[in-house]
Amino acid sequence: VNYQPASNRYDGMQYKYCGKSGLQLPVISLGLWHNFGSVDDFDVATDIIKYAFDHGITHFDLANNYGPVPGSAEINFGRILKENFQGYRDEMIISSKAGHEMWAGPYGGNSSRKNLMASIDQSLRRTGLEYFDIFYTHRYDEVTPIRETVQALIDIVERGKALYVGISKYPPEKAYLVYEMLSDAGVPCLISQYRYNMFDRTVEKENLSLAAKNGSGFIAFSPLAQGLLTDKYLNGIPENSRAARPTGFLQSSQVTPEKVEIIRQLNEVAHRRGQTLAEMALAWTLKDKRITSVIVGASSVKQLDDNLHALDNLEFTFDELAEIDQILLK
Ligand code: NDP
Repeated sequence: VNYQPASNRYDGMQYKYCGKSGLQLPVISLGLWHNFGSVDDFDVATDIIKYAFDHGITHFDLANNYGPVPGSAEINFGRILKENFQGYRDEMIISSKAGHEMWAGPYGGNSSRKNLMASIDQSLRRTGLEYFDIFYTHRYDEVTPIRETVQALIDIVERGKALYVGISKYPPEKAYLVYEMLSDAGVPCLISQYRYNMFDRTVEKENLSLAAKNGSGFIAFSPLAQGLLTDKYLNGIPENSRAARPTGFLQSSQVTPEKVEIIRQLNEVAHRRGQTLAEMALAWTLKDKRITSVIVGASSVKQLDDNLHALDNLEFTFDELAEIDQILLK
């Protein structure tokens, strides 16, 4: 039986304009960094994408190197689209990125024009897409002049390979240059992508306000700190969790007793709010009005379902926020 997207798919999701653009994003987006590679179960991956789309998640976040093996998440996503989503391309916002190590030699992993131009063509081929909705410079590489990277992004849009562009992980003193150069060229930076969660609040210092001031939306990656901000590590490291798997970026050494104690206290606050910790962690990241969306990862439909329930309670009292701050400061 062919998949038919749920007819009520837009009923439960909330959408926000991305910065000063006309593009709305779902407040919860789905990322394909883990769980969609050639080492993962293709049927589970397919079910997660269908479940996401059925619940109003229109935005899917990729990068050239997602897998493992690098590139395989784009290949799998392309296959899932082809097999299930014919006719739905215009209901989707699909992003990719270039800048991290992807292929051998001096052109395979930086923010040069050579890397960006070659990489977006590879990503389009792997996914089978005609264009990306958003294309990112994945990182600031310390050598390539900002002007070179920015011009490549502008040309990517002018050649119709992407509709919008964004930056990821640029330090504030470089981000503002990108915002200004892109804006001067009439291709404003749609979106800025950074890690933001209860355990990593670096962007609160400068990046959040800088993006807002420049009309850029802001999308938070790893809002669950790769799974730490859930109840899964409260009683040890479960088999098959990201911290247990050899291909996961979360190291078991990051699951320290001190961290687990903080997680336990946060979990209690979440329960008092009638939420799981995952739900509260997402709601917490979304409470700042400058955040357009959070990109969650999920290794099962059940996790994605849990994460979507964050939308049931996005409000915090002053006392709850103060209590959370106090726990995090310990
Ligand atoms: P999260 O912080 O949301 O972590 C996701 C992982 O946490 C899942 O794979 C799963 O791991 C676990 N998890 C998720 N939901 C639950 C739940 N309800 N209960 C228990 N465990 C849960 O995000 P990611 O770190 O995966 O990052 C999300 C996306 O952000 C990426 O896919 C990518 O698109 C983007 N990103 C961008 C980066 C950049 O440089 N621009 C860098 C990193 C990410 P498991 O079950 O395997 O333990």
